[in-house]
Amino acid sequence: MATIVSKDIPDIETCKSKEKNFEDIKHTTLSERGALREAARCLKCVDAPCQKSCPTQLDIKSFITSIANKNYYGAAKAIFSDNPLGLTCGMVCPTSDLCVGGCNLYASEEGPINIGGLQQFATEV
Ligand code: SF4
Repeated sequence: MATIVSKDIPDIETCKSKEKNFEDIKHTTLSERGALREAARCLKCVDAPCQKSCPTQLDIKSFITSIANKNYYGAAKAIFSDNPLGLTCGMVCPTSDLCVGGCNLYASEEGPINIGGLQQFATEV
């Protein structure tokens, strides 16, 4: 679990200005075909740095494997059992600073796995 230090906690005015601001929400553009292709790219890394970078310790490898096997229910179940706010997190998490930032494919030509997109796909489908 990541440690939150006091300098990371925004002041009350900053929070109030964001009360009705939903600009952070990212709607996935992944179709089923896109999600399957993205899931097939995942290396299923033994050390899974993506998972270590997730504050909820979501079993990312597991839900991506379920998507690759077209087991969307299993993927959603894995996500929601680790994080009841799985859908919301898929839409608003700063994934480039967290799981995606830790992905071993970050420096590859095709880039890191779109973990947030896959998470949102699984929880919506
Ligand atoms: S680091 Fe990237 S490639 Fe490795 S398991 Fe996580 S999402 Fe897949």
